[in-house]
Amino acid sequence: MQGICLLGATGSIGQSTLDIISLHPDKFRLISASANHSVDKMAQICRRFKPLRVVMGSEKTRDELARQCFDLDISFEWGAQALDSIAADSAVDQVMAAIMGFAGLSPTLSGIRAGKRTLLANKESLVTAGKLFMDEVARHDVMLLPIDSEHNAIYQSLPQTSVGAHKKDVSKIILTASGGPFRTWSLEEMVSVTPAQACKHPNWSMGQKISIDSATLMNKGLELIEACWLFDVTPNEVDVVVHPESIIHSMVSYRDGSVLSQMGNPDMKIPIAYGMSWPDRIETSVAPLSLIDIGRLNFESPDVVRFPNLTLAADAWFMGGTAMAVLNAANEVAVDAFLHHKIGFLDIAKLNEKVLSTANIVAVNELEDVLEADKMARRLALNMVYSGWLL
Ligand code: NAD
Ligand code: MG
Repeated sequence: MQGICLLGATGSIGQSTLDIISLHPDKFRLISASANHSVDKMAQICRRFKPLRVVMGSEKTRDELARQCFDLDISFEWGAQALDSIAADSAVDQVMAAIMGFAGLSPTLSGIRAGKRTLLANKESLVTAGKLFMDEVARHDVMLLPIDSEHNAIYQSLPQTSVGAHKKDVSKIILTASGGPFRTWSLEEMVSVTPAQACKHPNWSMGQKISIDSATLMNKGLELIEACWLFDVTPNEVDVVVHPESIIHSMVSYRDGSVLSQMGNPDMKIPIAYGMSWPDRIETSVAPLSLIDIGRLNFESPDVVRFPNLTLAADAWFMGGTAMAVLNAANEVAVDAFLHHKIGFLDIAKLNEKVLSTANIVAVNELEDVLEADKMARRLALNMVYSGWLL
């Protein structure tokens, strides 16, 4: 029986993880769960899964949850320290890192430092803290399983040897991208895109922030950096290929001309179950893939003129140091401003570019450098949003 700490239980990845736990009550037990604001959703999770500890984002939401669930024997907690604590709890075997954004970094690292198997959905934590993050994984000899579907596919397509051992045989990592809802739109058409349009992903049902990132291709940019850290490569060794059907979830090209891929219907339950049950495979309830029904798989190059975020991400990687934390922070501010109708859709990439080129980039020696860079870049980005720089 594996004890699960589910960080971000009320989100889209959180829900799919709960679905897998429900399917396999003999294998997994929800030990702890967290959410930021969603009291009602968390109350339902508490009734159904009866975790031992639950962490909310504020004292107010914690109190409201405790009131709704007064009859349950659960420790109701709140705040950043409590999040770190549930990830490191001795009853936990696996931490599902499914908080959205930079806020997921600290509890994810806490779980790693406690030696927990880490199921990484929260790409922003790896993107921003990259080398420090991977150093901690190595130091604590932690099993890190990528949950992002592309990286999960790459992981499955690599030989299951220790990190780096495969490198001499791999010629390229091929990261697939759906292209998002505006793949075929002109720049003129994209000017007036609304948050509702941008959140409607053609293939995947996901949280708001990652849906917007998919529409701007920033998601692929973050994933490019994520792949570099996870698989010890540079952007020069990663090709991004647009594949609108999202059936091939990514590929690994080898020096002998072989290309291995992982395929499946686009449902996050597949990579989640893979991570939870590795090295075994378990039922997910996802419909079997029917290639006959799909008929055709298409591929094209990404258009970096219409979607400049992809180039920005590669630039940030080569700049190194805090550049990736800066770009991520700018993007989190930009997406939030777009969702609140403060800036337009195309302004997201403009803001990212401006913050990345303006911010002071320094080397990362300790976590404090990343936290400081995040704070500074957020301030810079917010100033730009509210000073009308984009108008
Ligand atoms: P979501 O918005 O649906 O859920 C986010 C969860 O994080 C919620 O439980 C929310 O309460 C919590 N949260 C948000 N802000 C928080 C904060 N400041 N402090 C504490 N908790 C906070 O997001 P999602 O789509 O489930 O994505 C979660 C993560 O997984 C993201 O990093 C995303 O990039 C990654 N991911 C998601 C998918 C997907 O299909 N949804 C695929 C690959 C990777
Ligand atoms: Mg992905």
